[in-house]
Amino acid sequence: MSTSIERSFDLNALVRPNIRKLVPYSSARKEFEGTARVFLDANENSFGSPTEKPFNRYPDPLQTRVKTRISELRGIPVDHIFLGNGSDEAIDLLFRIFCEPGKDGVIICPPTYGMYEVSAAINDAGLVRVPLKNDFSLDTDRIVESFSDKTKLLFICSPNNPTGNAFPREQVLGLAKAFPGIVVVDEAYVQFSSQASLVSEIERYPNLVVLQTFSKAWGLAGLRVGLAFSQAPVIAYMNNVKPPYNVSTIAQDAVLEALRNAQAVDVFIADTLRERERLSDELKHIDVFEQVFPTDANFILAKTYDADALYRFLLDDAIVVRNRDSVELCGGCLRITVGTPSENDALLASIRRYSTK
Ligand SMILES: *Cc1c(COP(=O)(O)O)cnc(C)c1O
Repeated sequence: MSTSIERSFDLNALVRPNIRKLVPYSSARKEFEGTARVFLDANENSFGSPTEKPFNRYPDPLQTRVKTRISELRGIPVDHIFLGNGSDEAIDLLFRIFCEPGKDGVIICPPTYGMYEVSAAINDAGLVRVPLKNDFSLDTDRIVESFSDKTKLLFICSPNNPTGNAFPREQVLGLAKAFPGIVVVDEAYVQFSSQASLVSEIERYPNLVVLQTFSKAWGLAGLRVGLAFSQAPVIAYMNNVKPPYNVSTIAQDAVLEALRNAQAVDVFIADTLRERERLSDELKHIDVFEQVFPTDANFILAKTYDADALYRFLLDDAIVVRNRDSVELCGGCLRITVGTPSENDALLASIRRYSTK
């Protein structure tokens, strides 16, 4: 059961009228539960596939096996889990469910993940920017002042890309309590963070949607699988609006395989954290950096005296980092993903060559 705290929350009043009325596409496979003897319902090629492994059948539209496994591992009901073609699909769906094009809007807190703004533009949603403070903390007072009837979504990325810091749990939950719309907390980097996930709070906050992904710590960016956690009514809307077969058979099978090998991910995380500390320490001792920011993610934001020059020097050395120089509050900054020990050594050697040039 959904329990709402503080004030009553009327999900249906937030949802676009056309989405509230939507009769979702129903595949024959969705209507039939049980094991059939013969499948002649979906115009697939009954003879097979020109590949060693057959892919002639459509995938499970609701990814039930994957979600059941995630549910068992994490103690979250299946109907509180959405799987999408990357978390980018979940972001787009939230716009399509809640934001009437040309009328409604969202709040973002830049500098942050670029897809919120791109998705807003695609869906013709108004964008209200409430920048982080100079210390990269949330400007909660200004966020609350910016709420209006038209504001349907508030995006909080924690740990935040590109600044790397996670926001205090109580602050984010305070915003979820105060905001009449949907608070989307993007936890793409949560496994690298000292802050715990907010997924445990979805039962108490009916307007909270937590995004996670298989693209970062799980090492499966090429599969395109992202997750959203929320109470069942929000997840039901996401399932109704998504394309029916949004996660391929290969992706579903590979995620199941990954979930059987979850201990490998713990090793990736430990290795990344160890290299992150080493890389941060070493960068701090090279005099081309004015500041190396603390991080809760698998990347480091570092402020140089001349971001373009160092960025180009590294490119000439076939090392690609992300130049964030033109992003607000990130003047002079490069965003550096933590690599393997030898990749980080190559980066450090190149930066040292630059510094003594
Ligand atoms: C990388 C990243 C994602 C992941 O997106 P996918 O579509 O799941 O690959 C989501 N949010 C943020 C902030 C990211 O940096």
